[in-house]
Amino acid sequence: MKKVIIITGASRGIGRNMAYNLALEGNKIIANYNKSEKEILDLKNKLKEKNIEIDIFKADVSKKEEVDSLVDFAIEKYNKIDVLINNAGIAEQKLFTDITEEDFDKMMKNNLYSAFFVAQAVAKHMIREHSGAIINISSIYGLTGGSCEVHYSMAKAGIDGMTKALAKELGPSNIRVNSVAPGAIDTEMNKDLTEEVWNSILEETPLNKKGRPIDITKCIKWLIEDEFTTGQVISPNGGIVII
Ligand code: NAP
Repeated sequence: MKKVIIITGASRGIGRNMAYNLALEGNKIIANYNKSEKEILDLKNKLKEKNIEIDIFKADVSKKEEVDSLVDFAIEKYNKIDVLINNAGIAEQKLFTDITEEDFDKMMKNNLYSAFFVAQAVAKHMIREHSGAIINISSIYGLTGGSCEVHYSMAKAGIDGMTKALAKELGPSNIRVNSVAPGAIDTEMNKDLTEEVWNSILEETPLNKKGRPIDITKCIKWLIEDEFTTGQVISPNGGIVII
């Protein structure tokens, strides 16, 4: 596996784990970050200790002009993008009646607009190459809905809608588009979950264990290699959601 891969939100959590492990396998990684400079430099240095170089690129992917700079950087350096992993995202728990217009805008821009902008900027280069894979990280809440996370659930369901429509439009250009919809994964995004909440999640999870970033990375690796899967929402979730 030696591919040029853009990963958005690679400074922490799931994105960082993907960047680290895909770099170890010899891929050319463009690791995007926005606020967590210290963490992304730490990732770069850890890989450097193993003689592996990755590119890090600061861009707020909720802003189209910054997305364009990210994609231009990748094209100028490598002349193609084989894989896009739209991973950057934010979460917020709030009662539906308390969600402000500002909260709603922020949620949509950081989860949904961002995935749209990056996919759009990358797609034209993949179409030129007649090859590529786009993987969008959504969530089980996009499938089931999450109480007190209406805006997050809407954004993630929107991502799955984009995945399905884009798979149809880009399939004839030999570009596969899929969503990965994780269950609860032990990252900073879930730092406020109490032990009690984790225990109740585990009780409802047939495999009775917390998801780890590596569980998502393994699924991504398979999707990168696969050649016949497109338009699907694949959900590594320990069985908490079975459709
Ligand atoms: P995390 O630990 O909070 O990390 C989020 C990452 O997204 C950070 O690297 C952050 O970068 C980046 N990011 C956020 N907004 C950005 C922006 N506007 N521009 C660029 N980067 C941005 O979260 P995680 O748990 O790894 O989640 C990764 C993805 O999986 C998200 O899309 C999330 O919704 C999804 N997911 C997570 C879970 C879970 O249980 N953890 C479950 C289902 C789905 P900076 O810090 O550098 O700004």
